[in-house]
Amino acid sequence: MNKIIIAIDGYAATGKSTIAKRIAKKLNYIYIDTGAMYRAVSYFGLQQSPEGKINFTKLIASLPEIKIHFENSEKGLQTFINGENRSLQIRESRVNEVVSVVASVREIREFLVEQQRIMGNEKGIVMDGRDIGTVVFPEAECKFFLTAAPEIRAQRRHKEQLEAGNNESFEAVLANVKSRDHQDSTRVTSPLTKASDAIEVEVSHLTIEEVLQKLQYHIDKKLG
Ligand code: C5P
Repeated sequence: MNKIIIAIDGYAATGKSTIAKRIAKKLNYIYIDTGAMYRAVSYFGLQQSPEGKINFTKLIASLPEIKIHFENSEKGLQTFINGENRSLQIRESRVNEVVSVVASVREIREFLVEQQRIMGNEKGIVMDGRDIGTVVFPEAECKFFLTAAPEIRAQRRHKEQLEAGNNESFEAVLANVKSRDHQDSTRVTSPLTKASDAIEVEVSHLTIEEVLQKLQYHIDKKLG
């Protein structure tokens, strides 16, 4: 059977990665979490600047030194930066606070988009992010755009954060979700926007299984 590219874009904490992982597993495709790549560069930038403020000139100059790779484990997809597993650190609130600013820098986007395109060379890939259907793979056979009310997304993210041991308040999580949405949608380089040929799915009142069913229906049609 011909392999395809499945692009899943949408707002923060809409469940993109959970859905993308499940679809990839079912089809035996590779799953790539591009948000983790922007988070990895943000984490590297924070580590470079002990005072906690990213020096963008220095970070851009260091991009060729940042090697990101993913490995599957029983704990899920793990993100490695220069050989070190940084899956937990890239989800910390200090990374949440800077990642959308880091992701608005053109040089950083170009650096990561190039790698993402190489990862999708052979197709058979499910990639989630903000610009996959518009910029990374405009020719993707299946494109989805997930939306949900900010409060529902923040509840989801808050629960995940508590489970991971991050005791941030719901209000702080909601404020971060809203500010990332705003920053992602209004940036000059590849803003978050629905591709004209993407299927929009409003997930506020749907279970993961219901979202999966909807997406699977369209994927099956493409796969024939
Ligand atoms: O998907 P996640 O919420 O982990 O992504 C973190 C941030 O990375 C987003 O808020 C966005 O600023 C950025 N991002 C992006 N383009 C992508 C994936 C993520 O700008 N393709």
